[in-house]
Amino acid sequence: MNSCLFCEIAAGRIAARRLYEDEQVVAFADIDPKAPVHFLVIPRRHIASLADVQTEDGALLGHLLRVVAQLAHEQDFSDSGYRVVTNCHADGGQSVDHLHFHVLAGRALQWPPG
Ligand code: 5GP
Repeated sequence: MNSCLFCEIAAGRIAARRLYEDEQVVAFADIDPKAPVHFLVIPRRHIASLADVQTEDGALLGHLLRVVAQLAHEQDFSDSGYRVVTNCHADGGQSVDHLHFHVLAGRALQWPPG
């Protein structure tokens, strides 16, 4: 596998403002925020996109989304609301090929996205 930006962030070799980490996932602030709150939650293990998720990754994905909900609660935007997005492949707008969930909050978000 070629060098992966988010693998490097997960390993701590590239700096990011980390919000949460455990053995399986890392959450860190997006470098180019699209909302007052914008962070990314990623698995430590390299999975290129949602299209690459395997049956055995189900528990990992469930854990990742539970971390999103926990952070939303802890950061006090759970009640006001938020959006969780994963962009997949070219038409989905994916620019980093390591599975990540965007968490956006802090303003009323428009729908549908462009
Ligand atoms: P995608 O376009 O793949 O859905 O999302 C990739 C996200 O990663 C973008 O929102 C982009 O701003 C963010 N990003 C790209 N490079 C870096 C970086 O070096 N550090 C951080 N913290 N975020 C990054």
